[in-house]
Amino acid sequence: QPLVGVLALQGDVREHAAMLRRAGARVVEVRRVSELAEVDGLVLPGGESTTMSRLLDTFDLLDPLRQRIRDGLPVFGSCAGMVLLARQVLDGRPDQHQLGALDVVVRRNAFGRQVDSFEADVDVAGVEGSFHAVFIRAPWVEKAGSEVEVLATVGDATTPGSAADRIVAVRQGRVLATAFHPELTGDERIHRLFVRTVSEVA
Ligand code: GLN
Repeated sequence: QPLVGVLALQGDVREHAAMLRRAGARVVEVRRVSELAEVDGLVLPGGESTTMSRLLDTFDLLDPLRQRIRDGLPVFGSCAGMVLLARQVLDGRPDQHQLGALDVVVRRNAFGRQVDSFEADVDVAGVEGSFHAVFIRAPWVEKAGSEVEVLATVGDATTPGSAADRIVAVRQGRVLATAFHPELTGDERIHRLFVRTVSEVA
């Protein structure tokens, strides 16, 4: 069984840990460089990306994390985790750090202008049937580079008159990200996708 870490500085750490266990992984919470060094994969949970960014500094994890990702560590980020993984963030705080693991530009709190949260059934490439997705002050991917695989889109129901489909799940190599929270709905299929990637590498 692969050992998957959950970055445990802030956010919904326990929910991810539970889903990873159901998906067949051993799980450890990661707060230190020594813990980061042990894992075969890492989840960046949902929460608050500016807070997590600040805590990555405080815990001296920012550079070690960037290095491990450069060295090929599989990573999965949900919501705030997606924001952190992006190359660039719009509507972020000017001092928030980007891990730059995904060649995407994300817009933070993108759906949140009219309503904070909504749920939708989305099709996710690699997952059979539809997936019930919970969006909470969610980002969307505004621009994706050519190496980025779009796994899911959703109609922007929050902006009246908008027919645009927004990108809400992506993969680039071993890096996976969702704008929604698969850790919250008891459906572990997206965690299984990630654990499979981790197992292939570990
Ligand atoms: N809006 C939050 C952020 O920008 C993300 C919200 C979430 O993770 N549910 O970090």
